[in-house]
Amino acid sequence: MSKGETVYDVAIIGAGPVGLYATYYAGLRDMRAVVLESLPQVGGQLMALYPKKMIYDVAGYPQIRAEDLVKNLEKQAKQYRPDIFTEEKVVDLRVLGDRDFELCTEKGRTVRSRSVVICAGVGAFMPRKLDIRDADKLEERGLHYIIRDPERFRGKRLLIIGGGDSALDWSLTLQDLAASITHIHMLKQFQAHEDSVARLFRSEKIEVLIHHQLKEIHGADQVEAATIFNNVDGSEKTIPVDHILCFIGYITNLGPIKDWGLELVGNAIRVNEKMETNIPGVFAAGDIVWHPAKIKLITTGFADAATAINNAKHYVEPKARVFPGHSSHTVPKKQKEMARDQDA
Ligand SMILES: Cc1cc2nc3c(=O)[nH]c(=O)nc-3n(C[C@H](O)[C@H](O)[C@H](O)COP(=O)(O)OP(=O)(O)OC[C@H]3O[C@@H](n4cnc5c(N)ncnc54)[C@H](O)[C@@H]3O)c2cc1C
Repeated sequence: MSKGETVYDVAIIGAGPVGLYATYYAGLRDMRAVVLESLPQVGGQLMALYPKKMIYDVAGYPQIRAEDLVKNLEKQAKQYRPDIFTEEKVVDLRVLGDRDFELCTEKGRTVRSRSVVICAGVGAFMPRKLDIRDADKLEERGLHYIIRDPERFRGKRLLIIGGGDSALDWSLTLQDLAASITHIHMLKQFQAHEDSVARLFRSEKIEVLIHHQLKEIHGADQVEAATIFNNVDGSEKTIPVDHILCFIGYITNLGPIKDWGLELVGNAIRVNEKMETNIPGVFAAGDIVWHPAKIKLITTGFADAATAINNAKHYVEPKARVFPGHSSHTVPKKQKEMARDQDA
């Protein structure tokens, strides 16, 4: 180990709702935590698949929008100042001789920790990509699957593709910035929040074309135009565009996790009642776990996270009790002050 390298008490893989709650819980147990998330944002399926949808079965909330639940979880997790790194897909997990763990990401970041909690849900999400000629060549040269800086679309002509929340959210967000927006969707029915669909059709800035798909992208080094076609009557037209923003879903893949020596049941990791995997010191929580009574819900994922972290604490510090005490009694004054600072 190089001098000055941080050794975390726990490394959490995945910042979905369960990973965020595990991060909070690690702070509560006074564990130094690092979180590695493959997507550009935290929130897992809630932000990637249904940010605007209401959730009705999270304890304490009669109803809450998915994105608001994520905001609350993030705020709760950050009270204890964990290190959270996004766009860092973990590709390797190694046990070091002295029983520490080393995690390596696709981008080459390495992280060392005394325990690991895998909260990787259904695996790493990757945007589904277009299967048409030149699409790979023009990626990030006018063709985008992930939006990092909306400002680059100021005054530009955009073609936006998709019928889900991500596609509609971006059309509605960018309408005041872009010169023009053509929004195409291959079906008549949209899968997005009803209010977003209504606003899309109401917008005077956005031309919405249902039953339309992308056929061809034109441009040598940069997107210059797109040919779209109507999949009902077969008609097609070529429109000049500067950027194509494509949101046609995600593909999920356990990928490298399968090669870490973990005992798997289908696409899930087998855990015992402590949420511990077959590798001592490596725990798992949330949708990724399998045990005979597992139910894949946010609520049960939160319970998994608390169990995993409390047992990870005991693993890292055998003298520490598994039972954390009650937070209303045990949260140190300092943490209460940190929470107050954040509210101010
Ligand atoms: C449309 C829809 C509606 C739903 N509605 C409800 C509901 O009303 N109530 C309910 O309880 N549940 C609902 N669910 C299920 C709920 O979303 C999941 O149970 C929950 O998201 C599981 O959380 P998680 O943190 O375990 O996994 P995820 O949300 O899948 O998060 C896992 C995170 O890990 C990251 N990751 C994976 N592999 C790696 C890696 N190698 N390196 C780094 N990061 C990685 C992923 O990018 C992801 O962000 C719904 C699901 C869908 C699709």
